Amino acid sequence: MDKRDLDPTALVIVKETNTINFNEKIESMRKYAKENGVPIIKDEGLVFLKNIIGLKRPTNILEIGTAIGYSAAIMNQVSNSNIYTIERDINMYNEAKRNIDDLNIKNINIIFKDALEAFDLVKDIKFDLIFIDAAKAQYTKFFDMYTPLLNKNGVVVCDNMLFHGVVANEENYDNLTKGLRGLVRKLNAFTKELMQNEKYDTTLYDIGDGMSVSILK
Ligand code: SAH
Ligand code: MG
Repeated sequence: MDKRDLDPTALVIVKETNTINFNEKIESMRKYAKENGVPIIKDEGLVFLKNIIGLKRPTNILEIGTAIGYSAAIMNQVSNSNIYTIERDINMYNEAKRNIDDLNIKNINIIFKDALEAFDLVKDIKFDLIFIDAAKAQYTKFFDMYTPLLNKNGVVVCDNMLFHGVVANEENYDNLTKGLRGLVRKLNAFTKELMQNEKYDTTLYDIGDGMSVSILK
């Protein structure tokens, strides 16, 4: 038997060291995201997401849009939930894999696929929380595809719903580039549908870049 197993102070030290490593690694991920323009969740949104997870205590979480694994790592740290997270960009996927390995987290499964083609890989799992944070023009498709896997009282959180404030201002759409206008229109349509969807209780929050929380009734 390892001597440390019997020494409670040694255990405390081991734990603290792990925490420090986690925080340091998270800090280096934030730095990487900033330097490389990776759109990780904003601080205010992150606190909000942590609060929801702390209250909900999900067993299984589905995340659409891993990027470098930043939000996944933090969601896992709060709850120790099993996380299935989907990413279609090979560079992001590789970076996320390295980060999650470095953090030594075993219950985050990173799926390298377009989320619109990954349904079969998770179809047998029931989720307590779905976090949608990928291509904004596809939110309706993600929602329709994956919410059948949500448990009763399950929660759907969507990020970037206000898209830097432009979504709500329909009169300003003419000033946007064509590509952006299409995206913003789709996001706006999704938001309206979601607010009107009677199967869910939805609130839209002016937090970070706009976040919605929908609870399946
Ligand atoms: N949730 C992350 C940030 C995600 S950024 C965090 O807060 O830390 C959005 C990511 O979604 C990008 O890495 C992008 O490559 C990915 N993405 C966009 N559309 C996608 C799709 N259809 N399927 C899978 N990943 C997608
Ligand atoms: Mg986001």
